[in-house]
Amino acid sequence: MNIKEIYLDGTKLEANANKYTFVWGKAIKKNKERIKEQIKELWEYTQKIAEEEKLDKTEIEFEEIDSEKVKETIEKINEALKEKEVSKKIKQKLSYAKKQWPKNLEKYKEQEEILGKRNSYSKTDKDATFMRMKEDAMKNGQLKAGYNVQISSNNQYVVNYSIHQKPGDTTTLPSHMEKHKAMYGENPEVVVADAGYGSEENYTYLENNKVEAYIKYNNFDKEQKKTRKEVNPFATEKLYYNESKDCFYCPMGQMMHPIGEKRRRSENNYERQLVQYQAKNCEGCSIRGVCHNQKSNRIIEVSHMGKYLRKKAKDKLESEKGNYYRKKRCADVEPIFANMKQNKNFRRFLLRGLEKVSVEIGLFAIAHNLSKWAVTAV
Ligand code: SF4
Repeated sequence: MNIKEIYLDGTKLEANANKYTFVWGKAIKKNKERIKEQIKELWEYTQKIAEEEKLDKTEIEFEEIDSEKVKETIEKINEALKEKEVSKKIKQKLSYAKKQWPKNLEKYKEQEEILGKRNSYSKTDKDATFMRMKEDAMKNGQLKAGYNVQISSNNQYVVNYSIHQKPGDTTTLPSHMEKHKAMYGENPEVVVADAGYGSEENYTYLENNKVEAYIKYNNFDKEQKKTRKEVNPFATEKLYYNESKDCFYCPMGQMMHPIGEKRRRSENNYERQLVQYQAKNCEGCSIRGVCHNQKSNRIIEVSHMGKYLRKKAKDKLESEKGNYYRKKRCADVEPIFANMKQNKNFRRFLLRGLEKVSVEIGLFAIAHNLSKWAVTAV
C-alpha cells in the first residue's frame, strides 16, 4: 500500500434514525411564508378598520419576520381592534396567532440552525440527512436518513475516509483531500475517481495543489462508446468553438456571439465564470424542436476554464496511464464497499451523530485493513 496514488469513491450509509422523523428545509420556508402572508393581511385589515387614533402608524416591513416582530405586531393589532366589532373568525385567528406563531417561529429558527446548508435532517439523529440510497429494499425511491461516506484506497487498503452530510460526491473532494494532507503531511500525487467528482472546481483544486487528477467528467463514458445515438448532438459541448472569432457555431451553422457574462459561486465558494453566447435567429428553424426549448433565440453558457480543464482531463484519461488507472479504480476502492456491505453486512450505522458514525467507519477501516493484511501476509 502507498499513499501517493489514491482511488476515491463514496457510498451512502443509513443512519440509526427513524425514517418518519424528518424535518424539511422547504417545509420550514413554506410555513414561514404562510405566517408572513397572514400577519401582513391581518395588519392591512387592521389599518382599514381600526379608528384613526388607535392606529400605530409605524411602517412595518414584513419581508423578514421573527418571533419578536410577530409578537409585537399581534399586540398592536389587538390594541387597535380592542373596542371594535370584529368577526368571530378574525378573533379566532388572532388568538391562534398569538399562541402559535411566535412559538413556531422560534422552533423554525432552531431547526434552520441545525439544517445549516442541508435540505433535511432527522429528529432522531440531527446530523443525518435524508438521501436516496442505492439499496432500496422497497424499490419505492423513498429517501432515508443517512451519511455520505467517502473512502480513498490504495491496493484495496483504506487510506483515508471522511463523512459528509450531503448526498452529492462532487463537493466532498476538497475536504477529503484536506484530511489526507492533515494525516500524512502531504497531498497524494495522483487521485483517481469517477465522474461524480469531475467538476471544474475539483479539477482546479487538484491542479492548484499539484495533484495529478484522473477523474472522469459527465459523458466521458458515453464519448468512449462513440455510439452517436447516445451523445446528444445538440449538447453545448458538441458545438464547435472558433477561438479567434470567439464564437460558437450552432447545429445549423449559425454563429453564436457572446452577449454577456455570469458568475456562479459553489457551495465551497468556488467561483465559475460563464460566458453567454446567443444564436442570431432561431425562428422558423426546422430543427428547433430538438435543438432547444428556450423562448428566445438559443443561449448557451460556457465556462472556458471548465472547457480547458475537461479537455485536459480527457487527454489524461485516454493516455496509457489513464487507461491503467481507470481499470484499476473499479478493482481498488469498490471492493472495500462490497466488503463493507456484503461481507460485513454493515449497511446501517449503530450510533448517532457525526462524531460517533465517524468512529464506526474508522473501526471498520482498521478491521478491513487488518484482515486484508492478514490474508496477503499468509
Ligand atoms: S434552433 Fe437556433 S440554435 Fe438551434 S440549430 Fe436552429 S438556428 Fe441553430
